[in-house]
Amino acid sequence: MNDIAVIGSGPAGLSAVLYAVRAGLDTVLIDTDFLGGSQASYSEKVDNYLGIPEINGFELMEKFREHLSGKPYKQIESAVVEIKKADNEFIITLENAEVIKSKTIIYAAGAFHRKLHIAGENELSGRGVSYCAVCDGDYFEGKKAVVVGGGDTAVDSAVYLSQICSEVYLVHRRKEFRANIVSLNKLRSLLNVTVMTDAVPVSINGEKSVESITLKNTVTEEETVIHTDSVFVSIGMVPKSSVISTLVEIDQSGYIAAGEDGVTSLPGFFAAGDVRTKPLRQVVTAVSDGAVCVSSALDYISKNF
Ligand SMILES: Cc1cc2nc3c(=O)[nH]c(=O)nc-3n(C[C@H](O)[C@H](O)[C@H](O)COP(=O)(O)OP(=O)(O)OC[C@H]3O[C@@H](n4cnc5c(N)ncnc54)[C@H](O)[C@@H]3O)c2cc1C
Repeated sequence: MNDIAVIGSGPAGLSAVLYAVRAGLDTVLIDTDFLGGSQASYSEKVDNYLGIPEINGFELMEKFREHLSGKPYKQIESAVVEIKKADNEFIITLENAEVIKSKTIIYAAGAFHRKLHIAGENELSGRGVSYCAVCDGDYFEGKKAVVVGGGDTAVDSAVYLSQICSEVYLVHRRKEFRANIVSLNKLRSLLNVTVMTDAVPVSINGEKSVESITLKNTVTEEETVIHTDSVFVSIGMVPKSSVISTLVEIDQSGYIAAGEDGVTSLPGFFAAGDVRTKPLRQVVTAVSDGAVCVSSALDYISKNF
């Protein structure tokens, strides 16, 4: 039986493997897609990971994988389709029909950003279309930005971008916002932010990069074009927690309820990275989670085996 099964080979999972093998634990790493699965692989440029001033996301993941090269752990490329706990051991069933047993699980399956599914979104992704203001806001210093969404993340993104960009539009499909009133009031006090309600994006336009966005008023059906250099899509993330949604406690949005130590409602099952409840989903916080979860798993193993 393995000591630790790490599910997901993004920054959280790889960091967990590094700490697990250093602690001498029998470790297995499972991922559907070792090379292209992690969200970080899709980042054009990462310039907020300490010690590496600027790198392409795929190359950063390559560096993480290289760090584990030659280390004593097993790797299985398949999707986890079911997890059960019986007699103090976890039984993990994979899509390839293999069954893995482990004393503990570090679940680091990540999340994905909801998309608008409009013309131009995919084509201009990474060329003005972004899903993360904290990651990409800097590239639009002194330029125009449009943020789409009405929740806390959208409002916070607009506030954040207002300090970097010359002009920011916040576009929301309803009149009422879901965001908290403190952030909303702050947003409304900003002179370079325009709030547009009852508006939905129809298309993102541009040849080589974002040049404008077309919006439709949901009441009048009138279309407006806003010239902008960037569109930040901030309509929520979907955590990859469906496999374990009946096994451990998850919050209303589907994130696994876990604190900084990764401890969940199910003893021996730890959550790391974007899939857990946390205020900031970044490479650096995912890497940190992976390390802390191994410490929690070691504690659990020492008390239960
Ligand atoms: C376009 C983009 C740009 C970004 N830019 C930045 C940036 O500049 N700086 C920054 O700090 N952060 C950035 N982020 C955020 C960062 O990528 C994430 O916070 C980070 O990757 C989260 O790591 P993770 O290990 O939790 O999850 P992920 O990186 O998403 O990895 C999860 C892994 O789990 C695997 N998996 C999922 N389900 C299963 C299953 N059932 N069975 C087996 N394997 C499974 C997936 O294949 C994947 O490899 C960006 C994100 C995106 C999408």
